[in-house]
Amino acid sequence: MALLPGPPAPRGAVFLLVKSIRNPAPALLRTRSRFPRMRPLAATVFRNAARAPEGRGLVGAACRAAPRALEGEMSTRYDAIVIGGGHNGLTTAAYMARAGKKVLVLERRHVLGGAAVTEEIFPGFKFSVLSYVVSLLRPEIIRDLDLPRHGLEILPLDGTFSPMPNGDYLWRMDDHARSIREIARHSRTDAEAYEEFGKAMQALCRFVKPIMGMLPPDPARPGLKDILNLLFMGRRFRALPYDDRYNQVQLMTMSAADFLDQWFETPVLKGTMSASGIIGTFQGVRSPGTAYVLLHHYMGEIDGAFRAWGFSRGGTGGISNAIGSAAVSFGAEIRREAPVARILVEEGKAKGVVLESGDEIHADIVSSSVDPRHTFLRFIEPGHLPDEFLEEVKRYKFRGSSGKVNLALDGLPEFKCLPGVGHHLRGAISISPSVEYMERAYDDAKYGAFSSRPYIDIVIPSLTDPSVAPPGKHVMSCFVQYAPYKLKEGPQAWDQKREVFGDTVVNTIAEYAPNLKEIILHRQVVTPLDLERTYGLSEGNIFHGELSLEQLFFLRPVAGWARFRTPIRNLYMCGSATHPGGGIMGAPGRLAALEILKDFQRGVA
Ligand SMILES: Cc1cc2nc3c(=O)[nH]c(=O)nc-3n(C[C@H](O)[C@H](O)[C@H](O)COP(=O)(O)OP(=O)(O)OC[C@H]3O[C@@H](n4cnc5c(N)ncnc54)[C@H](O)[C@@H]3O)c2cc1C
Repeated sequence: MALLPGPPAPRGAVFLLVKSIRNPAPALLRTRSRFPRMRPLAATVFRNAARAPEGRGLVGAACRAAPRALEGEMSTRYDAIVIGGGHNGLTTAAYMARAGKKVLVLERRHVLGGAAVTEEIFPGFKFSVLSYVVSLLRPEIIRDLDLPRHGLEILPLDGTFSPMPNGDYLWRMDDHARSIREIARHSRTDAEAYEEFGKAMQALCRFVKPIMGMLPPDPARPGLKDILNLLFMGRRFRALPYDDRYNQVQLMTMSAADFLDQWFETPVLKGTMSASGIIGTFQGVRSPGTAYVLLHHYMGEIDGAFRAWGFSRGGTGGISNAIGSAAVSFGAEIRREAPVARILVEEGKAKGVVLESGDEIHADIVSSSVDPRHTFLRFIEPGHLPDEFLEEVKRYKFRGSSGKVNLALDGLPEFKCLPGVGHHLRGAISISPSVEYMERAYDDAKYGAFSSRPYIDIVIPSLTDPSVAPPGKHVMSCFVQYAPYKLKEGPQAWDQKREVFGDTVVNTIAEYAPNLKEIILHRQVVTPLDLERTYGLSEGNIFHGELSLEQLFFLRPVAGWARFRTPIRNLYMCGSATHPGGGIMGAPGRLAALEILKDFQRGVA
């Protein structure tokens, strides 16, 4: 995720440096006596954690002491089944369990987290294999689930460093005055505009922010609550300063490049800033609508400060594990290596699931955090969904465009333009020297090839969190665009192109940091096909479907079905394919849980 510029977040106040609870197991044990039905759950989590190395962090030594006698006592009847143990599924489970429901989470893989996962890919090197920085995680979730008590700790990510081909660089850091001086080195006009831009974006974020926690209205069939919500948004829009109203309309319609052209002139500043507009989309920085995605990323907030991004200690899996631990403490049961094959539907109503093992599990409701293609086209047998709905699901755009290269390093890269181990290595390092560079990277993808000169967003988390690499070694995460799922030879060709793609990424970075190749110990290349096969992300889309305007808010995932309910009664959606979309946010999971609980209260579910 590219960092966007703006006024610096006040350091001390921004970061949530809460003492980590390294072993939440005592909390689990305590809760067991309060929730008698949790006995089988504890056994499951303990057993699974003992099997999967990643699980050890979640339950600690207590898992090894779990009495084996408890195994196999699992219930087959629940109030709710949540499909998928990514951070959204876990959030839904945690809120529902907190409300006293008997909840079961079924995760296909051996490890929790989905796209927010930490895995020890090479001995001693722990990678945030996919997502790598956090900012969008909703503060109300951190509060409600008391995540710091469950081990969540966010560490600062310090600014963005953009090396340039001419041997210069642009380095925007958390020290606002220094950033302004640095930008002024490139353009005095931009330094002035940068301050104004930051203020305007913050105003727009404040305007848009309530939408993240709002149930999308249905403009086709508005109820009283919808009309009130729309009026509320209208009033907020009118309260915006005059110029910001225009900015908002432009953001919804313009390309990231055009929008930034109105503010700035420095190519590297515009190139790096525009990158946030294309993350996870199959669009270029000059494609209309990308300016909004820019705002989506700007909206990230840590402890009340917009634009603040950070690392989760232990990798992004730490976030999922903290949510999972909270869910378990409220009484939820989590089963890993439990892939769902089918959702049971009788008389238009979801009744439970069938696992790939053939086991049937029954529940009053089923909530899927898996994307709509899997949920509606794979898990539901033909005949249960209206044709028009299915057509919309088939039309929903995935068009994955990103890959990842994770490197285990023997030292640190030395950038020609700023040699030495400085603070510039602790933030994001962005290979995005100009808008033209970014657009050319997209040109390759348009015709079915990965970018020969890709946009790369690099972080080295081991500099901030030494727990993820052995002493003196480092992990380097490279998020890459464009890596189109649909290669001209077809998606399967990724298996042959994996290493050439990896070489392209390493060679591109080595143009700026020539020692890189000498210090690589291990390399993991994650292609869009891997994202689909291993992580269940259709067409490798990192957000469960593009964050383009026609797939947002009351249109996500399907017009008329944006409120987490589906045409099948008691079947809900709770993942990134629902409002407000992808990113480690937890917002879809929370909003879905609140709607499901409302239905339980009304006696509908
Ligand atoms: C390469 C990459 C980089 C990213 N970078 C960032 C970033 O830096 N910051 C950020 O905020 N966001 C980032 N994102 C986006 C973010 O990680 C995702 O939007 C988010 O984690 C999705 O969460 P989720 O819970 O909705 O879905 P997922 O995490 O996809 O969870 C769905 C879960 O369902 C499971 N599942 C699938 N099929 C079955 C089945 N049949 N039965 C049972 N379980 C099943 C999956 O294994 C998975 O655990 C990135 C994503 C990717 C892929």
